[in-house]
Amino acid sequence: MGDRVLMVGAGLSGAVIGRRLAEAGHAVTVMDARPHVAGNCHTERDAETGVMMHVYGPHIFHTDDEGVWDYVNRFANFLPYKNRVKSTTQGQVFSLPINLHTINQFYGRTMRPDEARDFIATQADKSITDPQSFEEQALAFVGRDLYEAFFKGYTEKQWGCSPTELPASILKRLPVRFNYDDNYFFHRFQGMPEHGYTAMVERILDHPGITVHLDTRFEPAQAEEWDHVFWSGPLDGFYGFDLGRLGYRTLDFERFRAMGDWQGCAVMNYGDADVPQTRITEHKHFSPWEEHEGSVLYRETSRECGPDDIPYYPIRLVEEKALLNDYVARARAETKVTFVGRLGTYRYLDMDVTIREAMTAAETFLAARADARPMPAFTVDPA
Ligand SMILES: Cc1cc2nc3c(=O)[nH]c(=O)nc-3n(C[C@H](O)[C@H](O)[C@H](O)COP(=O)(O)OP(=O)(O)OC[C@H]3O[C@@H](n4cnc5c(N)ncnc54)[C@H](O)[C@@H]3O)c2cc1C
Repeated sequence: MGDRVLMVGAGLSGAVIGRRLAEAGHAVTVMDARPHVAGNCHTERDAETGVMMHVYGPHIFHTDDEGVWDYVNRFANFLPYKNRVKSTTQGQVFSLPINLHTINQFYGRTMRPDEARDFIATQADKSITDPQSFEEQALAFVGRDLYEAFFKGYTEKQWGCSPTELPASILKRLPVRFNYDDNYFFHRFQGMPEHGYTAMVERILDHPGITVHLDTRFEPAQAEEWDHVFWSGPLDGFYGFDLGRLGYRTLDFERFRAMGDWQGCAVMNYGDADVPQTRITEHKHFSPWEEHEGSVLYRETSRECGPDDIPYYPIRLVEEKALLNDYVARARAETKVTFVGRLGTYRYLDMDVTIREAMTAAETFLAARADARPMPAFTVDPA
């Protein structure tokens, strides 16, 4: 007889763990407070235009993890998709990430790769030898002109603070390519599920050992009713936020419709500080194999996350890390709860990493049960 196991959250974390445990003979229940599965990756068709919308913001699948790529292809047909982002800044449209085209256009030049590399080295601020902030790091890499055009305003809007207050570690490598490659991601495998992420997650959850309850909020006091609980909700939320709230940024999406092709690309960033949106996304371009007369767009702005907002990006500055350590210490004492996913471990996780970690959590659980060992509260270290 298998255990009665609960997944709190029907996002990728809950679905992938739930599927594996159901396949191993456990009785799995999946609960989600939302009326749909797939968590933040949820996609649905707009009733008016038929366009597949990425409801909580655009999601592009990219990975170097062949096991994860095989896994998602078991449940969805992936079609080729390359993310090519543009940026409107200082009255022009540029190609991102900053590449040879961006540099030549920005400086009105026709440099070849080696010339551009030497030129950018002359722009970099050499007086900064030990960068302490994001701003100093960017200045040390690319100099003031490119920093102000592509990093300063965008970062201020996205994080709600000056880049002088953000750690240098955010910008680890030189954020410039000295060729014309404008594919946003480097990963070997990239694509979009033909019928959206929600259809994919529905298929992951389609197993006789899994029962799904939507529109159902789980209260931590109910945890005793289950042999084990996998919690993919907010770590601090499990404890009623009683030590304080971990800081997040939330996003507002102002949805609007248009006819035809409104902006000519999927993602247009806005680098200028005096333009309120960080970007506008046109969702029909995320499914380039489909044709629609109408179009749906999201004008995206970022702000501090309040108690009733959806938490999107964990802030993880010094203050939050201290609070995180307090919650983690408390969670480690749990014997029947495992904290998983982007909210349960308070980290930004791409979908492929989420899936890999969920696979590991499931295998850890199965091994623990097989050897009659306790299941740990975390299978990755959130700190
Ligand atoms: C704006 C944005 C864009 C992104 N773009 C990309 C991208 O392009 N590519 C990429 O690879 N990744 C992207 N990601 C990351 C991706 O969204 C995550 O990897 C993924 O959503 C994590 O899945 P999860 O199951 O851990 O969490 P979630 O998707 O957040 O699922 C958690 C679920 O738990 C439910 N829940 C919480 N508390 C309770 C409760 N008490 N009772 C019941 N249900 C509860 C929630 O309703 C939610 O559905 C992006 C993330 C953001 C924020």
